[in-house]
Amino acid sequence: MKAAFLTGIRQLEIRETPSPEIKGPHGVLLRVGVVGVCGSDVHYYTTGRIGSLVVKYPEWTGHECGGTVVGMGEEVNRLEVGQRVAVDPLIPCGHCDQCLSGREHTCRNQNFLACPGQGPGSLAEYLVMPERSCYPIPNGMTMVQASVIEPLSIGLYAQRLAEMPPGAKIAILGSGPIGLCVLLASRAACDCTVYATDLLDERLAMARCCGANWTGNPKQTDVVRAIRELEPLGIDFVFECAGQQETFDQAVELLKPGGTVLMIGIPEVDRVSFSIHTLRRQEIRLQSVRRQNNCMAPAIELVSSGAINLDQLVTHHFSLAETKKAFDLVADYRDGVVKAIVHVSE
Ligand SMILES: [Zn+2]
Ligand SMILES: [Zn+2]
Repeated sequence: MKAAFLTGIRQLEIRETPSPEIKGPHGVLLRVGVVGVCGSDVHYYTTGRIGSLVVKYPEWTGHECGGTVVGMGEEVNRLEVGQRVAVDPLIPCGHCDQCLSGREHTCRNQNFLACPGQGPGSLAEYLVMPERSCYPIPNGMTMVQASVIEPLSIGLYAQRLAEMPPGAKIAILGSGPIGLCVLLASRAACDCTVYATDLLDERLAMARCCGANWTGNPKQTDVVRAIRELEPLGIDFVFECAGQQETFDQAVELLKPGGTVLMIGIPEVDRVSFSIHTLRRQEIRLQSVRRQNNCMAPAIELVSSGAINLDQLVTHHFSLAETKKAFDLVADYRDGVVKAIVHVSE
């Protein structure tokens, strides 16, 4: 089969590689339909690492995808051949303390698609996943929508972790795909006031389409001051989706006493800092967000019911042969890109 591999910093090649085989009774062989390019894939592409996970070339890439079941192990019973699914890229061990306590996303022995040394990548013609990672999608849902379910599930999980009450004032710092998914999930969940920021005006325009009440670009506006003028008491929940020291600082300055910052962005640095006295005096809560947990099925439901429109996030389409172009586009934030999609077989 053909698959995309990272072969160096900013190098990506489509290579022939053996097709995967179903191992074990719960394995499912998928023909990959559509793959979304994620910021984390592009981190590995441009820098060769995220934190302590360092790429050894050649490395698989891609983890967001929708596919069609073409084969399965003898104990698979929730799926059938021809069923279309959205894929959760996580392969948990199923027996550690985390898995047994319902925290598969922090499994101690986890494999995740295209994380260095872990699973294969979804940017391939075929993929084998455990049954538990395959979520059937309804007939009306497109394969492109299926490929955006995983990032939506992250936004939904972050929104649920916040436990925001109706009327909450929230700020989303960084309006890329994940920030916009937090926005869509928050809008669908409750009546809230949403302030969104980004360095790219096209993304702010998209944030307004997705329901932001106010948007600001820190290149042109002192966003903390502007939001504070409108919300003198401060913000209840800040979703940090940029992973920059600057946005961590903005988060703390925006929050009201007792407010929460949810940290979703992936910083390129190993450490960030906070003013400990501000955190202490204001009793600010720091909540990190590790991908998602149990939010794939509810994300599918929100899209299929029409409560969330994912199509607006998808701005660019490529073929598997054009994967490098897709990665360069996302890496360089060109042409108003939000979600770039690679069509592998659809
Ligand atoms: Zn992703
Ligand atoms: Zn585990």
